Amino acid sequence: MFILMGEKNTGKILNDGVFYCPVCECQQHYQHIQQRNMFTLFFIPLLPLPISREYLECAHCHNSFHPQVVDERNLYPTWHYAALRLMLEFLPTGKLATDKQQAIWEKLGGTMPDASEIRAAQQTRQDDRQDVLHYLQNICSGLNPAGELKILDAVLLFAKACYGEPLPHPVQVLCNQIASTLELEPGIAQQRLLTLNYE
Ligand SMILES: [Zn+2]
Repeated sequence: MFILMGEKNTGKILNDGVFYCPVCECQQHYQHIQQRNMFTLFFIPLLPLPISREYLECAHCHNSFHPQVVDERNLYPTWHYAALRLMLEFLPTGKLATDKQQAIWEKLGGTMPDASEIRAAQQTRQDDRQDVLHYLQNICSGLNPAGELKILDAVLLFAKACYGEPLPHPVQVLCNQIASTLELEPGIAQQRLLTLNYE
């Protein structure tokens, strides 16, 4: 006899309401979602595992936001901050013209950060001294699947723009590590690399 064990993702709506969605730029309905992994035995969820994520999801644009967005005016969806941090990871090694950066942010469906936001992000990055994978692990709790994919796309687009194709091996390895830190399926980085283009 064999035993089939696994994990299953379950989402629970903690509450809902109306908030000012910074992406839609108007009042929208949101759901406050808590996601946790359940330990399963023969596909039956038995025990909740400790890793859980919490975020607000806009019912219209489906971006996820840190729950604080309701009381503090937090301008961007969670993925935006991560994409900016990743842009900073890639830029010191390759020069990237402003129009290319602009094209990438447009492709992601976001707004290119201005100079003061970039300076602030550089400072935060210097202060926290975490490597990029630890950083992503920590912010994962504020992301929904669409946000995770956006971050991976940002990584791939910045990497492509800075290094050209094929990506150097260490960069490929980093992209795969980022995908697995975001708990995305194996092989997804290669798949998306084939179809993604910012030009
Ligand atoms: Zn929205």
